[in-house]
This record gives sequence, C-alpha cells and structure tokens, in this order.
Amino acid sequence: MRYDAWFRDADTGTGRWELDEIVYRSPGGGLLEVAHDLEALKQRTDAGWMKLWESRYKRTQWPFSSGVWGKKELVLPNIPDEHIVSLDEGGTNLFWAERFGRELGLKDLWVKQCGVSHTGSFKDLGMTVLVSQVNHLIKSGKQPGILGVACASTGDTSAALAAYCAAAGLPAVVLLPRGKISPAQLLQPLANNALTLALDTDFDGCMRLVQELTADRKLYLANSMNSLRVEGQKTVGIEVVQQFDWEVPDWILIPGGNLGNVSALYKGLEEILALGIINRIPHIACCQAQAANPLYRAYKSGWKEFIPMVAQPTQASAIRIGDPVSRSKAMRALMKHGGIVEEASEQELADASAWADRTGLFNCPHTGVALASLIKLVRSGTIKPHERVVVISTAHGLKFSEAKAAYHTGTLAGVIGTYANPPLELPASTGAVYDAVMHHIERTLR
Ligand SMILES: *Cc1c(COP(=O)(O)O)cnc(C)c1O
Repeated sequence: MRYDAWFRDADTGTGRWELDEIVYRSPGGGLLEVAHDLEALKQRTDAGWMKLWESRYKRTQWPFSSGVWGKKELVLPNIPDEHIVSLDEGGTNLFWAERFGRELGLKDLWVKQCGVSHTGSFKDLGMTVLVSQVNHLIKSGKQPGILGVACASTGDTSAALAAYCAAAGLPAVVLLPRGKISPAQLLQPLANNALTLALDTDFDGCMRLVQELTADRKLYLANSMNSLRVEGQKTVGIEVVQQFDWEVPDWILIPGGNLGNVSALYKGLEEILALGIINRIPHIACCQAQAANPLYRAYKSGWKEFIPMVAQPTQASAIRIGDPVSRSKAMRALMKHGGIVEEASEQELADASAWADRTGLFNCPHTGVALASLIKLVRSGTIKPHERVVVISTAHGLKFSEAKAAYHTGTLAGVIGTYANPPLELPASTGAVYDAVMHHIERTLR
C-alpha cells in the first residue's frame, strides 16, 4: 500500500505542493502543513495500526526503532529508508511523577521526558524528518541546487540541526541571538561543525534574517514554519497515548514559544482521532513565560486579537519569542478544541522547577513554565485531583545548568530561591560533616 502525502495551505486546507518541492509558504504568505491521504490510511484498522506501531517501538529494525520513524506511514510515507537520517529519536521515558503529584494533590501525574534524547531537547523529533527530507532531495538528485540547511534558533533547534546535518554530512548554518542562549546550546553546533553565527539581535531578528538568507533556495530553511518538522514533533502526543496503552490522558501541558510544538501536538492527536485510534482529544494547556506571553494575552482577550511583543529576558530562553511564526496554527487548534493558555512568572517557573527537582526530576526552565502552570491550574480547580495529567518536558535540565546554579546559589536576579539547596562549604572535620548530615536528614524526612 502506498500512502500519499503533500503540502497544502494550512489556513484553507487547499492547494497541493509535492514534498519534493522547496516551498515554505502558500502564495498568500500563510503557513503550509503536510496533508496525508487519511482515506488510504483508514484501509488498515485502528487495531492494525496499533499493532504495527507497537511491533516496531524501541526494537532493533532500523529506522523503525525510532519513535518518529516507527510511525513512518503517518510521517513521510514515501521517503526511501536509505535516505533517512535518524539518531533514534523519541521513545522517551514517561516519568510517573508520583511524589510530586502527591505533594501537589494529583493522583496521576506524568512527565514526558522529551529532553532525554540525542541533543537534549524535543527538537530532535522534528529535525530527523526535515534533515531526512533534505538528504533525500539531494541524494535522489531531485533538488541538486540545495547546498546546505539553515535555521534561526533560541538554541535547541540549532543544536538539533547541527547534529543531524553532521550525521548526514550536510553543511549547516545557524543564526543565534548573541548572548541569549545557554553555553551548552552554543557549544553543541560548534562541536558538530555548523557555521555558528552569533548576531546582535533577538530570536525574532534572526528569524527575519534567515528567511532572507534562504530565499534563493540554496540553503534549505529548517525553522518550524517549515511544516516538515511538525510531522516529527506530532508523534509525541501519539507516543504518549501509546505509552498509556492507547488511553487518552485528561490533560497535556506543553510550554510554547514559536508555537510549532503545540500545533504539532494537536495535529498528531487529530490524525489518530481520524484513524479511530482514539475517540477524544485531551484538554491541552499551552504554557508561556510571562516575559514572552503574546499567546496568553490573545487568549485572555477571548481570542479577539493577537499582538506581537518584544520578548523580555527569561530563564526559559528557548521560548523568549514575541512574534511566534506558528501562531495561526496554534490558535486555530486551541480554539477548535477549547484548549487553554497559562503563564508563569520567573519566580513561579524557577520554584516549580526546583520543587519538582526535589522529587527526582531535573527540569529545564521551560518545563518549569509548564509545571508552574500546572500548579496554578490545580490550585484554581481547573485540573481535578483524579485527572490523568501529562507535562511535556521539552529539554534536559543539564542544558540550562547556569540558571539552575544561579537559583541554588541565590544569584538569580529578581528570584528568591524558595527551594535553594546551595553547597555547604565546611572544614574537613568529622564533627562539622556529621552535624551537616544530621541536619540534612532531619530536613529531608520532615
Ligand atoms: C523550542 C522549545 C520550546 C518551544 O517550542 P515551540 O515550538 O517554539 O513553541 C520549548 N522548550 C524548549 C526547551 C525548546 O527548545
């Protein structure tokens, strides 16, 4: 069975461009999306799809062991396997946050650890699809004019692009806002030999530049306005449902910046709804940092108006975006399904992240935004104690160790370290060490 897929206008659902064309926007300037021939996919039963996808999940048959490529029929059905560039993305731990949930008053709380992956963020899910398709266009001779791949980034997209391009042997160019990403995120594209441009602007400025840079199509544009990335990222919601033996959780909370990921989450769930694999879409909350909250403001206006803003500094630097590219997709899905938007201040996100860390997690600040939003939604009664809740953790905490260190050592400007646990500097004497140990045990068990 051959399954067809093509680009179409995301706003109107019309038009058709082949996936092998270089096209990022519709003639009217709107975003594209990848459409799938759902009628053909429905030829296999819902049970048939579940069985097929389960049979591949985290097994050994390359590339199907990947959480993304295990669902190839619903991602890029027709790419030859030998052109796929996979670093075994997806298949990440769904952490049962039993203790944190209990402390918060939730019985059934889970954290999807998307940051436990090759480059330490969920961006790997989308980048494997995009770089595979570019690799295919070049290797098949369909687009011999492509010389490399470029992106603007708040740090994680560039790390993923650099790694996948390095694995495939393709030149990568990344545009970063100078001084606004973490040292680990800067180091990643350097190590993977990408041309790394640190520019005196913010993310939105880099985004404008990269669109000009890629306009002549010699460099393929890898930002999430490129709808190929959404095809990989959409598998996260499907994978969560699969990890619950195909049961739909009540809530999914997801941090949002450029808003590609929340759009992708909805798209994947809508598609498996159409295939009869699930029978409802969960409540979704998109969570923003107060410093960069244009979607939250639009939501609070009753979706009447969306006003781009200049994003302010935030620990959640990967979502420091004031003019999100995928806002129309995100707003359409949130409105259609009654999704909500929540926000978190710097104090709230830092404390939420640290509180959850004390129960065995190791969160990045973006996950902190989602956890802080969770706390607010539980306390306001929006999320009920018995409901099954999944928080999408978007990156590994180790990529953001500076923010975490500043919190614990009391040097994070404007934030009080409610849960700070600074290192104790002691004389090397048995008495001092023993006293510290007893004090710690008392505090931990209290
Ligand atoms: C990219 C990113 C986000 C935001 O995803 P969008 O698709 O831009 O909304 C959140 N957290 C982390 C760690 C990211 O890298």
